[in-house]
Amino acid sequence: MNGYHVAFAGNPNAGKTTLFNNVTGARQHVGNYPGITVERKEGSLVFLDTQLNILDLPGCYSLTAYTQEELVARQVLVEERPDLVVNVVDATKLERHLYLTLQFMELGVPVLLTLNMMDDVRNKGMSIDLEKLSEGLGCPVLGTVARSGEGKPQLLQEIVAMAREQQPWKSLELSYGPDIDPVLEQLVATIEHHQFLTQRYPSRWLAIKYLEDDEHILDQGRLANAELAAELEKTVEGLRHHCEKTLNSFPEAIIADYRYGFIHALLKQGIVSYPEQIDRMDLTDNMDKILTHKFFGPTLMMALLYLMFQITFTLGDYPLQVLELLFSWLGETVSNLLPDGYIQSLVVSGIIDGVGGVLSFVPLIVIMFIMIAFLEDCGYMARVAYMMDKIFRTFGLHGSSVMPFIISGGIAGGCAVPGVMAARTLRSPREKLATILTAPFMPCGAKIPVFLLLIGAFFSEYRPLIMFSITLTAWAMALLVARLLRSTLIRGESTPFVMELPPYRWPTLQGILIHSWERTWEYIKKAGTVILAISILLWLAMTFPKPPTSITAAFEQQRIELEQQQATANTEEARVQIGHELILLSQEQSLTALKSSAAGRLGQMLEPISQWAGFNWRTNIALIGGVAAKEVIVSTLGTAYSLGEVASDSPTSLVERIAKDSDWNRVSAVSAMLFVLLYAPCFVTIVVMARETSWRWACFALFFNTAVAFCLSTIVYQTGQHLF
Ligand code: GDP
Ligand code: MG
Repeated sequence: MNGYHVAFAGNPNAGKTTLFNNVTGARQHVGNYPGITVERKEGSLVFLDTQLNILDLPGCYSLTAYTQEELVARQVLVEERPDLVVNVVDATKLERHLYLTLQFMELGVPVLLTLNMMDDVRNKGMSIDLEKLSEGLGCPVLGTVARSGEGKPQLLQEIVAMAREQQPWKSLELSYGPDIDPVLEQLVATIEHHQFLTQRYPSRWLAIKYLEDDEHILDQGRLANAELAAELEKTVEGLRHHCEKTLNSFPEAIIADYRYGFIHALLKQGIVSYPEQIDRMDLTDNMDKILTHKFFGPTLMMALLYLMFQITFTLGDYPLQVLELLFSWLGETVSNLLPDGYIQSLVVSGIIDGVGGVLSFVPLIVIMFIMIAFLEDCGYMARVAYMMDKIFRTFGLHGSSVMPFIISGGIAGGCAVPGVMAARTLRSPREKLATILTAPFMPCGAKIPVFLLLIGAFFSEYRPLIMFSITLTAWAMALLVARLLRSTLIRGESTPFVMELPPYRWPTLQGILIHSWERTWEYIKKAGTVILAISILLWLAMTFPKPPTSITAAFEQQRIELEQQQATANTEEARVQIGHELILLSQEQSLTALKSSAAGRLGQMLEPISQWAGFNWRTNIALIGGVAAKEVIVSTLGTAYSLGEVASDSPTSLVERIAKDSDWNRVSAVSAMLFVLLYAPCFVTIVVMARETSWRWACFALFFNTAVAFCLSTIVYQTGQHLF
């Protein structure tokens, strides 16, 4: 592409995305949750006859290699060599945000410093001397209000001017004190002498990375020249030792201290001035005193989240019912229109039921997402993560793991698909992986009907208690398994909680709508397409292979005979009697068909093993179907149990039929609920997991979760059998 390349970079929540949207006119997610822009966002515009290609880099606090965002930002700068970086900082938090600015300067890329949120600065009565700051840093400085577009023309003008100028890269040389500086010089000399990696990285920057023990760079160094790399590492090791002994510190900590020191000293020269009567306790701080209070914080959080789901289910129930009615009406209409046979069965039981089951959830999901988007955009979700961080840390997770858990169904209802996707906000790959692997334990909306069914059949008097216990079990299991994984397969340090708490802001309606629509649409798309395919597959598995023709023919024969008898029966009573027999016959026929189908055979094959946990072959079919989509469990149980049971005088509900079945009892019901709660994530979730991590981990989840679930269910069932 012709034109100049400009990278927008900055700490999360500095308003980078807002500015990017404002400048390029591109539509993009605007939120308060740090680190949401992990994707690459690009836009372009023409200004003063100059084409500008703008890249929105992921938000980051630093250019170390601790997190994916940092690594991405750094790699893009080094490899794509943009003509300049527009460093967007929150002007009200200048001291902290300039830390990243310094790192850009150390790297040497030309920087245009943009102080955003100048409206907040004015509202607080602060003032910032842009010219002095520009002098002190040696780069152009501008003020903007991204939300209103203030300062945009000047920004574009300056971008074009700087891009045309084509400044060469030049590393800012800070002093890191008498201990570090000499070693730094020595490293730089060695690096330059051997031209070690200097085509890619500035030599001084490279040396600093060696001092900071940057694994990513160390690896590259070892690859490029193992001998030299070892020499450099040895030099650094010596310094490290020295620092530890004399200063009780590490080179990276000392370097950071000097950077902050530089910024602090710079700003003290009258660059930032506060009003006389400075109200340090502004609204955000006051609100946080209560909202993140040790006791009131979590209490309020629980109440708020509970309320959120209460609202979701109250509001969402009607559209849910309407949609369900709509789909059952559609099913009936279609079965009347199409002739009996495979096509009808495929369209009605396969496609309409399967896809309808998923689409019926859309209203609930929209409402839930709107509320989550609200809490996110106003800044509350960051507080939730902050409060939960301590607890989660003991389990090897991160405060930000809370959201994926909640979205996956951690309170009531939910879905692991958006839940797993929400784990993108996690900055450390290990914690992200542990979160993704455990989020599917949560009782998602599709599992709930199964619980309701079994509770209705065996524990109808304890409904709230059992539902509550299920939720507790889910959280406990998720945390315990996360702990287990983090101390075995995904071992490694936890990342510190560097997320800063953004100020509370009143969210914009547009922001919330775009935000929740994007998520909902993703759900519809993913779930819709995959479920369609799965419904068809499942239908095939439950329909074919057909029983041998001799058996089918025998059933046909019997049916014809009964029908003839019915036609010639002379009393009304006899006709009704034969009618019953006909129903019985067709049920028996479907049962035989189900038994001979692929799914039926698999269910029977697994029965000897599944019996340890108390599941018969019909339950097995439903559970296998549940891997495709948890919605399928109840409907498959319905099919499997409507077939074959001796029809009583009145039609019975599935709840009653299961309650009466001799294979089921309270113990097997508990075992089944536990299994459904914990076993393999549904197929859509697995696909999303694979996309967010890798197919290896997605397959791991499939088998590992099922094994965990089966072990627990077996223990519960066997113990229960002996106790009761
Ligand atoms: P990013 O994380 O750097 O991409 O930040 P965003 O663009 O997502 O902005 C974070 C929040 O700051 C959003 O709620 C914006 O509406 C808000 N915001 C952005 N620019 C300004 C500004 O100039 N003034 C004020 N008051 N708020 C802003
Ligand atoms: Mg952003």
